[in-house]
Amino acid sequence: MAFQTESTGISPFERKIWLSSPTMHGPELEYVTGAYKTNWMSTVGENINEVERLACEKIGCGYAVGLSAGTAALHMAVKLAGVKAGDRVFCSDMTFDATVNPVAYEGGIPVFIDTEYDTWNMDPAALEKAFALYPDVKVVVIAHLYGTPGKIDELKEICDRHGAVIIEDAAESLGAEYKGKQTGNFGRYNCISFNGNKIITGSSGGMLLTDDKEAADKVRKWSTQSRENAPWYQHEELGYNYRMSNVIAGVVRGQFPYLEEHIEQKKAIYERYREGFKDLPVVMNPYDAENSEPNFWLSCMLIEPEGMCRQVRGEREAIYISEPGKSCPTEILETLAEYNAEGRPIWKPMHMQPIYRMNGFVTREGNGRAVTNAYIAGGALGKDDRPLDVGMDIFQRGLCLPSDNKMTAEEQEQVIEIVKRCFE
Ligand SMILES: *Cc1c(COP(=O)(O)O)cnc(C)c1O
Repeated sequence: MAFQTESTGISPFERKIWLSSPTMHGPELEYVTGAYKTNWMSTVGENINEVERLACEKIGCGYAVGLSAGTAALHMAVKLAGVKAGDRVFCSDMTFDATVNPVAYEGGIPVFIDTEYDTWNMDPAALEKAFALYPDVKVVVIAHLYGTPGKIDELKEICDRHGAVIIEDAAESLGAEYKGKQTGNFGRYNCISFNGNKIITGSSGGMLLTDDKEAADKVRKWSTQSRENAPWYQHEELGYNYRMSNVIAGVVRGQFPYLEEHIEQKKAIYERYREGFKDLPVVMNPYDAENSEPNFWLSCMLIEPEGMCRQVRGEREAIYISEPGKSCPTEILETLAEYNAEGRPIWKPMHMQPIYRMNGFVTREGNGRAVTNAYIAGGALGKDDRPLDVGMDIFQRGLCLPSDNKMTAEEQEQVIEIVKRCFE
């Protein structure tokens, strides 16, 4: 595979550079082996107890319940918050679909809230407007994208004033802080994930976090098929098979002590990109350095409007026209792939997803939904192709860079060089 592309003289990576892959350290195997040797190969055991304790200790929450996935934790949170069929729920718009699907599992109707440019999370001004449009909404699901805490104080103040419960989706932001407090503490029912690409992993798994003991107990019961205390299988409530396995918990237990190390590595990656791209018409995914400390899970970049070549995206494919001095996410991602490095588009906003095309979408100004529909119908908007809502704009101009913590500094320098060449 050692061909050299004549235009750049750079050879492709022999070992694939991943977006974000699991990083194991050794103790994971010991705890998994421990479960095997003691035959605690089910959803009960010391590993589960221990990871729940470690999560509470690290994050500072009262209770943590180990579950099979972050999505399961969000589903339990949506049930705890009392979402019923037909209820509208405000949700982050630029996020992974697991943030919002659990609302739909319960028959709720997600209404998407546009994104702000300062942290790429839910825009408090759009949320305020949403409460004016839908004053009855009682639940708000807020994600911290790519490990960067959102504007928590502003969002919380608005939700408190409207008597709405916050569900915090901290699946991507484990270990990130806002004003000295860990994410996963700000909502009433919160979730983290140990999916394979997250900052620490169990290969899969997740947790429901809360300070409410009764809520935690309910989730322990619901997630193990809602068995009542009786000599036989006795059921009064709908049950789920959502509990974490003691084997998976062994992996998570082995990973927990390395969370800080992973965050340091991810932060170094972010800073090398920021330094490497300082002469390009791009910015890194931003954060509020005064009030927050992200976990830097994924490094992303946003191309300034004047640095964008023409790029048009349909539902399933994209085309672009290369231009000197300019580039676009499609060109950069295709070029990285040629060199055996994995980037990814920004998570496509929920309001642009066909499955949620009938759902409400609230922007701080104007009619968000009308703009989106015009864009989807026409493929492009206006003469400079600049969409009007923030999520669509970041999706159009942004991308996730290879952010694997096993990538060496030299490999990253090469990634930076490849991206730079796209702008030549
Ligand atoms: C990964 C992720 C989830 C879901 O977690 P799983 O453990 O994969 O179910 C939820 N929300 C966001 C924002 C995520 O990135």
